[in-house]
Amino acid sequence: MIKLLLLDKDGTLISPKAGHKFVEHPADQKLIKGVAKTIAQYAAEGWTIAIVSNQGRCNTVNPDTGETYKKLEEAIDEMKFCMKLIPEVSRAMFCPDMKGVQAWEILQLPDHLGVFDCLKKRAGVQNSGLFRKPNPGMLLYTMQEIGAEAQDCLMVGDLESDEAAALAAGVPFMYVGKWLNLSS
Ligand SMILES: [Mg+2]
Repeated sequence: MIKLLLLDKDGTLISPKAGHKFVEHPADQKLIKGVAKTIAQYAAEGWTIAIVSNQGRCNTVNPDTGETYKKLEEAIDEMKFCMKLIPEVSRAMFCPDMKGVQAWEILQLPDHLGVFDCLKKRAGVQNSGLFRKPNPGMLLYTMQEIGAEAQDCLMVGDLESDEAAALAAGVPFMYVGKWLNLSS
């Protein structure tokens, strides 16, 4: 049996270090209290640990600058930075567009801690249009890639869209506050 822990990133694992509402650059991330210890427990119990994150600010234009709030390269670096904060995370996906058409996958290479492989999932592949939560595309893709059954997964997040994505994927869900309390 393959146990898969699916985690939202912002507001679940990390918060902006500088204290603003959003992460403003890749290093502007700090772990939420209790996360490191809890994830270490899951890893010790043999869970595969993956992040599934909406990054719609890559697709949202800042009216003051006329550019998107976040560049794709920044979103990739941001995810890599987060994965370095939590080395037990072996893989991550993020959806940079508001229509859920694309998802980027970042894999921790086995035996090469801190080295990552980035694969762009193209429009038109399975789950395209469903990647952005509350749709379940990133969850379903990750489950399929590692061969995990829905009942052997747990999704943890801080928003209703995380819960809805889990429901749509048939995966049990827990809000992060409860999850951290149960594990402490
Ligand atoms: Mg969140």
